[in-house]
Amino acid sequence: MSVTGLPPYDEANIFARILRGEIPCKRVAEDDHALAFHDIHPQAPTHILVIPKGSWVSAADFHAGASAEAIAGFWRMVAAVAKAQGLEAGGYRILSNMGADGGQEVPHFHVHIFGGRRLGRMVP
Ligand code: 5GP
Repeated sequence: MSVTGLPPYDEANIFARILRGEIPCKRVAEDDHALAFHDIHPQAPTHILVIPKGSWVSAADFHAGASAEAIAGFWRMVAAVAKAQGLEAGGYRILSNMGADGGQEVPHFHVHIFGGRRLGRMVP
């Protein structure tokens, strides 16, 4: 069981398959710690997903179990992608859905980066 009540990590989940190159993605950036790619159903002019390379179900699992180096590397990637996309000046949103109540669909930890327009207020 993962921290947020989801089943243990499933190596067949769609983002694991993207990481292994079995499914294509529109890649934005990649390093030893993380992969960033465009969301297949963008909800904003810029909608990018950043995923760590380790096998973590959700943000809670990642922060509880990954090394400090992996965590720092992941968040450096998030910031670098937002900057490279030109989102720093106007601002942007990062979001991670966690578990069933959080609306998480893909059980591999990921952060959404939304930007490129004035985003609405966050409501549950
Ligand atoms: P979640 O609800 O788990 O936070 O978000 C999962 C996100 O993954 C959704 O925004 C969905 O559009 C995106 N997604 C699902 N399958 C694929 C895929 O095969 N490729 C890409 N690039 N994005 C996907």
